[in-house]
Amino acid sequence: TRLRCCTAAGCQSSGALAVKAELEKAVQSAGLDEAIEVCSVGCLRFCGQGPLVATTEQAGLYAQVTPEQAPAIVAQLQGQATASLPQQLAADHPFFAHQMPIVLENSGQIDPERIEEYIAAGGYAPLHHALMEMSADEVVQEISASGLRGRGGGGYPTGLKWATVAKMPGEQKYVICNADEGDPGAFMDRSVLESDPHRVLEGMAIAGYAVGANHGYIYIRAEYPLAIAHLQKAISQAKRYGLMGAQIFGSPFDFKIDIRVGAGAFVCGEETALIASVEGKRGTPRPRPPYPAERGLWGCPTLINNVETYANIPAIIRQGSDWYASIGTEKSKGTKVFALTGKINNPGLIEVPMGTPLRRIVEEMGGGVPAGGTVKAIQTGGPSGGCIPAAALDTPVSYESLIELGTMMGSGGMIVMDTQTSMVDVAQFYMEFCRSESCGKCIPCRAGTVQLHELLNKFLRQEATPSDLEKLENLCHMVKESSLCGLGQSAPNPVLSTLRYFQNEYTALMSATA
Ligand code: SF4
Repeated sequence: TRLRCCTAAGCQSSGALAVKAELEKAVQSAGLDEAIEVCSVGCLRFCGQGPLVATTEQAGLYAQVTPEQAPAIVAQLQGQATASLPQQLAADHPFFAHQMPIVLENSGQIDPERIEEYIAAGGYAPLHHALMEMSADEVVQEISASGLRGRGGGGYPTGLKWATVAKMPGEQKYVICNADEGDPGAFMDRSVLESDPHRVLEGMAIAGYAVGANHGYIYIRAEYPLAIAHLQKAISQAKRYGLMGAQIFGSPFDFKIDIRVGAGAFVCGEETALIASVEGKRGTPRPRPPYPAERGLWGCPTLINNVETYANIPAIIRQGSDWYASIGTEKSKGTKVFALTGKINNPGLIEVPMGTPLRRIVEEMGGGVPAGGTVKAIQTGGPSGGCIPAAALDTPVSYESLIELGTMMGSGGMIVMDTQTSMVDVAQFYMEFCRSESCGKCIPCRAGTVQLHELLNKFLRQEATPSDLEKLENLCHMVKESSLCGLGQSAPNPVLSTLRYFQNEYTALMSATA
């Protein structure tokens, strides 16, 4: 029997390490060391109910486990009736029932610090298959045929990006993994890296082979110490197993990966700023073209994808592009990982097929708003996205449908808001975020976000006039159209989407003397 304790950052913060230590003690004092193995695994997904423990004996999960309940869990495994058991979540709980784990297939199943467990779960076989059985061209074609699109936000076709880098001339090319997840409320990439780091390394190695790059970088934010530690360990294990370095699997393909830790600037998630930061320069964006695919890191052709995009690659190579393309909608294939948070009963990490209706995510999986409250809006896409009104809950999730609603998929943050939430407050919160994260390189964003923030404060102080409403909207369009990079171009989105659906809240805040 295996007792799997989630020791990812979420459960650690609610005391998972103490729970694991007590489970080990309870197993030892019951003399069951041989029969029961207590191990660490990555995220078990139902983060709001941590610390979480899973067993091989039962399909469900123990939730909100306290160290004092450890002996009761061990006693139950021995078939003894016991009173002080933690709450148990059934495997068919709606939170899990609609999920389709592909990126998260190993999450909560394997110990992320043991390469042996990743290999036993089929890991590195796709890399072997790609290197031994496929040409680099065939790998690019397979990824193109899968329909996978970039999971970092924009949804650019991954195969097309790979093909562009692959056909660039030049001896030296690079592969970069963007792990600078910075949207408020988003923790998908952190969980993937903490729970299954080898999966991302393998995806990068396959990408390196496909585009002709022998060197990869993972750019990760300093706020993710556990993910960094797991990555460092995974890299050294992969080297020891000959899965990274020279002549992998005896093939002519050499590949290595280095980690670069960011210093906390949101703008470094923008690819040209990220590249500058990896080069040791100040992380500010530059105009594109040239795109990184042509001239990226140190002027060489560079492929940049995010964590979730790479995490999909081993599954596509293993199960084939037809299988992957059969999941999702016509233009948005596969699954998407979301961090479900906010005013919701079941916050956590979910992976659902593209096309899943928002209502299913919020009401069935998320369990709706606590204390019988009512959903007012869902925020997706972080500071670059917008708020979807409750009236649009039947929309199926896809890149296109979210853009039509005035928001975007983003990297996968999904924050539920109830009827107590002021949407002007929400817009002000995101504008404050963009104002303080603006790198200041171009005037529309540097000055525009300050002005927009001040205008929103004027509404919140109930001093705004009807002309301020017009000014707010005009300024949003100006900042959107004239900013240099994605941060400024998308900073007005939360304001524009709340103006579109909740304009009455702005007018209700106007000065009575106006
Ligand atoms: Fe910097 Fe903002 Fe201009 Fe981007 S849009 S370059 S973040 S000032």
